[in-house]
This record gives sequence, structure tokens and C-alpha cells, in this order.
Amino acid sequence: MQFTQKSREHIDSCRFCWMCHHVCPIGNATGLERNTARARALGLSLVARNAVEYSEDIINNVYECSLCGGCMTDCVTGWDPVMFVKEARLGAALDGKLPDYVMKMIENVQKKGNIYGANLGKALSDKIKTLKKSDTLLFLGADARYKLPKCAIEAIDLLKKLGVSFTVLENEPDSGYAMDFLVSASAETKEIAEKCASTLSGFKTVICYDPQDAKIMKREYKEWGIKVKADVVTFTEFLAKTLKKQKIKNSKFVFTPQDSALLARDLEETEPIREILSKIGTVSEMLLNGKYTMLAGNLIMNEYMPEVMEKVAKNRWENAKNMDTKILVTENPAEYILLKKTKPAGIELLTLEEAVSKCL
Ligand code: SF4
Ligand code: SF4
Repeated sequence: MQFTQKSREHIDSCRFCWMCHHVCPIGNATGLERNTARARALGLSLVARNAVEYSEDIINNVYECSLCGGCMTDCVTGWDPVMFVKEARLGAALDGKLPDYVMKMIENVQKKGNIYGANLGKALSDKIKTLKKSDTLLFLGADARYKLPKCAIEAIDLLKKLGVSFTVLENEPDSGYAMDFLVSASAETKEIAEKCASTLSGFKTVICYDPQDAKIMKREYKEWGIKVKADVVTFTEFLAKTLKKQKIKNSKFVFTPQDSALLARDLEETEPIREILSKIGTVSEMLLNGKYTMLAGNLIMNEYMPEVMEKVAKNRWENAKNMDTKILVTENPAEYILLKKTKPAGIELLTLEEAVSKCL
């Protein structure tokens, strides 16, 4: 396993500190030292020096990171564990050392176009068929299409109700987010991203329902020199802009946003969700909000460490309970699924479109 000079520098500098351990959602869930950025860097520094083999255990440890960027945001010295973890994943792929659970997801992407190996359900497929052609595309993403079709249908219904002219692709291409998560910027990941970009370029505007697709299209595609001719916007941003033109009576509901790390940290988008919620009700903030948000779940990791993902979501509910949250609103399908699974009594959980629909 060969690391770039930049990654080696970050690995060697990061491993002497422990200052970010309290912000790691995985470390907080497992209580294990191996899940801190420092411990991971320590293992990888030995690999980089050829002092130990790039073993199965170290590789598994590399897949125990959600790439949420909490540590990186908290790091006053500016070291970037996300960067070296992604490089370590690419290295495992190039060395032919990917764990079986990763290989299974990659095979599903190759065979079915999504990590779950799933087909589109009839209800969502029928709903998509009702939409006319448009130069605005609602890009649903794999999690909503295959794991949360109910919410995908509700998002479609809300945009229709708001008078937006848009379409959804029955054969939507994969954005490449899952492959980037699993094996970083491999040739296969870039090939998937290029195919997706070419489809999207046939539209004027692309609204990304899932923050993970928005993140890769707006950030990694650019880094890799992959151009999308369309204007790519997040669903939250698009909804905030659309609602500005609508007359809505403010409800008495008190909403608490669960910021998606992909939007708040990776894309630095924190205001649109607050604009929406303060137009339809009142905003009450969560502990650790905005760019300091805490992950509430990741569906890719849920495929191979479901118990930890449940604990991650439960921990976020504890934050919500401590702030006397009444209605928690999430803009991320993966977080919605895991929060729903672990929801305590007495607090309501809504997607952003559910919150808006409730007040129209
Ligand atoms: S990311 Fe920064 S704060 Fe966290 S262990 Fe590394 S050097 Fe310390
Ligand atoms: S990126 Fe997130 S999950 Fe990974 S070590 Fe940092 S805080 Fe923990």
C-alpha cells in the first residue's frame, strides 16, 4: 500500500493527538479507541512505513469510518483523516484486498446499478410515469429509490403541488457516490460519474433529492474534471427558493433541523433548511448543529455494521431529547431511515417534504 506524500504527512501528524475523539459518531457508538482518527492514523502510519502488513484488521478499521468529516472540522491543526481514509480504501482496492462485504456491494453496482442489488418498486415506477418531459430533473438517488420510495413519492407530490414542472428518470444513472465511499476515485468510480454527468447534461436544472448525490456532483465531479452542463442544486436549496414565492400561513409547530453533514460540512449549506422551517413554523436548534452537526446514520455502513448504525442514530436522539425537541426534521434519506428505526416516544420525525406538506 503506497500513500501519497500529502496523505503520509497527514497520517504522521494526526496520530499524536486525541482532541477530536468526542465528535466521532462511530467512536461514540462503539466506545472503542480504534474508531478514533488518531488510532486509525497510527495503524496506517505503520503500513506506510512497511512496518506491518496492510492486514484484514487494519482494512476493516478503514471501513469503520463514515467519512462524516466531524474530526476534520474539529481539528484545530487542520489535518484531514477523511483524505487519508479514502486513499487507504483506494489502496485496498488496488492491492486486491477489499473485504467481502465491500466486494458484494461493488458487484451489485456492476450488476444492478446500486449497492443494494435492488429493482425499482411498482409504486414509484408508476408515479414516475405520470410525469411529463421537462428540462428540470429531480434526481432521486439510490437510497430514496430503493430504500425509501414512500418519501421519493412524497417529494414528487410536493413539487407538483407547488407548481414545479419537472421530471424523474425511470432509469436514473448511479451518481457514483457509493463507489466513491467504498473505493474512492478509482477508474470504475470515475467511469460511473462520467456516465451520470453525460445524462444530467441533457437538462437545464438538476435537483438532487439526496445530499450524497449533490455532494459528489458539486464537489468530486469538479475535482475529477467531470463537467455537468446542468445547474445542480440541492433539494433543500430548491425548496427554499420555491417557497419564497408562496404564501404560507406560519404554523405553531416548532421544528429542529438535523443538519446533514454532507450539506452542512461538505457543501457548506446550512441556511436553506432554516429558511424553510422558519417560514412554516419556528426553528429550535439541536445541540451540535450547522457545520458541527453529528451524523445520525449511513446506509452504506448499515449494510455491514447495522448495530453500530443503530447506536449512532440512538445517540443523535439523545441529543434531540436533551434539547427538548418536539419535531426533528431531516433532509437526508439515510438518516431518516435510521432515525425512524430508533425513534423514541414523544418526538416526531419528519422529512423536509413532510414538514412542508404538513403546513400547506
Ligand atoms: S484529526 Fe486533528 S484533532 Fe483529530 S486526532 Fe487528528 S490531529 Fe487530533
Ligand atoms: S470522519 Fe467521522 S467517522 Fe471518520 S473518524 Fe472522523 S469523525 Fe469519525
